[in-house]
Amino acid sequence: MNSSTVTSHYGGKLASGETKKRISFISEIKSMEHIVKILTIENVTHDVKRFRCEKPDGYHFVAGQATEVSINKDGWREEKRPFTFTSLDESADLEFVIKIYSDHTGVTNELNSLKPGDGLIVRDVWGTIEYKQPGYFIAGGAGITPFIAIIRSLHKKGKLDGNKLFFSNKTARDIILQEEFTSMLYGNAIYTITDEPSNIYLNGFINEQFLRSHVDDFSKNFYLCGPPKMIEAMQEILGKLGASPEAVVFEK
Ligand SMILES: Cc1cc2nc3c(=O)[nH]c(=O)nc-3n(C[C@H](O)[C@H](O)[C@H](O)COP(=O)(O)OP(=O)(O)OC[C@H]3O[C@@H](n4cnc5c(N)ncnc54)[C@H](O)[C@@H]3O)c2cc1C
Repeated sequence: MNSSTVTSHYGGKLASGETKKRISFISEIKSMEHIVKILTIENVTHDVKRFRCEKPDGYHFVAGQATEVSINKDGWREEKRPFTFTSLDESADLEFVIKIYSDHTGVTNELNSLKPGDGLIVRDVWGTIEYKQPGYFIAGGAGITPFIAIIRSLHKKGKLDGNKLFFSNKTARDIILQEEFTSMLYGNAIYTITDEPSNIYLNGFINEQFLRSHVDDFSKNFYLCGPPKMIEAMQEILGKLGASPEAVVFEK
């Protein structure tokens, strides 16, 4: 977890007295908990749900940031898990897109039993995946969530040009929000499937050969989010192919 983006989010050029006031304001914000009511719950895929919730007054975030969420229910309030905002800061509501793990009794399994009207607890915002310049978004499975907000935001501002999405999933039915990504990025949304043959999508992992054939400029930014093994592999391959470490953005 990294609080530096919280600082930069609330920061800016301030006189020193103001800075002190701002820092104490930030620590108040950081420790704040907000109970928000769930407004709607929808299925996005067979194991991913979209939760639309109330947004607390004065609550702000940058596309790509996350918060620690817990369920406002006895026995669950202290079970905090990080989830990324998939709505935009200017939206009236908060949206989360959450993969449910029903194989054990964790928070996501419990989220699966919630109904509209139930409450979540959201906290300070943080995250290190922040958009810099056009480049390549590389996502594995539920690792797509920070890119949902970033790509939606760029699309809304008409600034998606020069960006490409490579989205890897085990099977076709695991692809989150495919229609929406294709409607925003057209041919620059490229899907690959690793665990079943497909005539519609590319087949196989995002590896060196994949990157060589789909990346035309290794000096651009690379935004990575997915399973740790995938991130490690991408960093190694991108380094080998000439990407500078400063241009590779991922959650630290
Ligand atoms: C910055 C950040 C942002 C994220 N944003 C999102 C997002 O927007 N959407 C999203 O879907 N995910 C997101 N994630 C991932 C998400 O936080 C995890 O999927 C979530 O925390 C899983 O919670 P859980 O309680 O269901 O399971 P866990 O936390 O994995 O498990 C809870 C407990 O059960 C144990 N356990 C784990 N597996 C098993 C098992 N098979 N059987 C028995 N016990 C087990 C664990 O050891 C642990 O003690 C994000 C992660 C990070 C770091």
